[in-house]
Amino acid sequence: MTEITLYNTAIRAKEVLKPLDNTNVRMYVCGPTVYDRAHIGNARPVIVFDVLFRLLRHVYGSDAVTYVRNFTDVDDKINARAAESGRSIGEITDETIQWFLDDMGAVGALEPTEMPRATAYVPQMVAMIEQLIRDGFAYEKDGHVLFRVRKYKDYGTLSGRSVDDMIAGARVEVAPYKEDPMDFVLWKPSDAATPGWDSPWGRGRPGWHIECSAMAEDLLGSEFDIHGGGNDLTFPHHENEIAQSKCAGHGFAKIWLHNEMLQVEGKKMSKSLGNFFTVRDLLEPHGVWSTGISGDAIRYVLLSTHYRKPMDWTDRKALEALDKLTKLAQYEEPEAVPPSKRVVAALCNDLNTSEALKILEDLSKEGKIAELVSSARLLGIDLVNPVFAQERRTRDAYLRMQGIDELEEELQMARNDAMAQNPKDFTEVDRLKTRLVEIGLEVRMSKEGVSIEVPSNFDVSKLETLK
Ligand code: AMP
Ligand code: ZN
Repeated sequence: MTEITLYNTAIRAKEVLKPLDNTNVRMYVCGPTVYDRAHIGNARPVIVFDVLFRLLRHVYGSDAVTYVRNFTDVDDKINARAAESGRSIGEITDETIQWFLDDMGAVGALEPTEMPRATAYVPQMVAMIEQLIRDGFAYEKDGHVLFRVRKYKDYGTLSGRSVDDMIAGARVEVAPYKEDPMDFVLWKPSDAATPGWDSPWGRGRPGWHIECSAMAEDLLGSEFDIHGGGNDLTFPHHENEIAQSKCAGHGFAKIWLHNEMLQVEGKKMSKSLGNFFTVRDLLEPHGVWSTGISGDAIRYVLLSTHYRKPMDWTDRKALEALDKLTKLAQYEEPEAVPPSKRVVAALCNDLNTSEALKILEDLSKEGKIAELVSSARLLGIDLVNPVFAQERRTRDAYLRMQGIDELEEELQMARNDAMAQNPKDFTEVDRLKTRLVEIGLEVRMSKEGVSIEVPSNFDVSKLETLK
């Protein structure tokens, strides 16, 4: 059997995956809170764990993997969205779930085996909370149930921090119903306007963390192989999941995998910076991308950085991905063969997707087309019947139409003039460059010449101000 090695956050080292049951390898990944379109950062764990799902199916068999990814459909952000829009919670969560599935399907993600909604597992959560209270790990106060963090001596092991360090670093809420500020909510009361379920502690709703413990146990059993999510979830979410499940007597997850965060053009995504994109924004025509960016190109960009490294979404990377994909593209279905052993080996080495993408280029150069197509499919990329070249052409044509080429030429000529003078005089070059940078374009100058880069969030109408 091919060995898969994964970096386990819990031991801060790589470890060979030894499934509890080779005929049913089990993985749980924390899914989205469903009140809005998924942003490009949310696509990162989806794509990373989709590659792992595909690899596990390849190694253990397509019927031998159970992949659970939940939908958090009870949350105060959802309640707020319902209140401000006047729509019902069910309408909002149903719509958002469908958007999520459509958008993630567009970037090549298979649907997990199970996609439980938290609201369908409230009885299991209540049962787990009752058990925790019975065994002294949780207590009720004023309709709230809290987990007694100091009672679980291994708390903090996953993130490698002590409880006191975590208190210092986190914004823990002090509340009258808490014995200790570190204690976290398992259950909280709901008023008449908030969704709630009857429970031994009155009408209320679950805290966020308990849902994953309850659903993982119900769908994967007391102990399972892999648990994943973004590294922003390590603390407190995953630390709390572990505390709940272990104290309820479960082995819980053996290997913990965390993807690093994605940023956009070097900055944390935020609506106020104008660098916040949903996956749908990128797929649809936008800015200079008059036909949008194909899901395969988006996926290629996300796979080109290893999942444990921070990554930057830039428009330039999307262009490079399109160029690479255009070179790899095929127009006929080749014979069906297994994926290249080299690609499988790269993925088995803690999901080295960037290496796997480089091997695709080698396979193409070596003329191993059948292996190329099959290996790309293992990565979730379809190289047959692609749109890549067309997309690149329409983008470039659009920019030509908008006069970016002429601006580039003007700058190049100014630079040639500056270089030809004695002494060199860059006053005009700097003036032109400043105007371009002011409206949001990026200017690169090197020995090879001048190029103007157009960021994804570039406002094309700003070109008017140059005229
Ligand atoms: P949320 O809906 O915010 O709970 O996030 C759903 C998933 O997306 C979680 O696994 C998060 O860790 C992950 N995530 C959120 N933001 C980013 C980001 N900027 N980069 C990578 N993963 C992210
Ligand atoms: Zn979770």
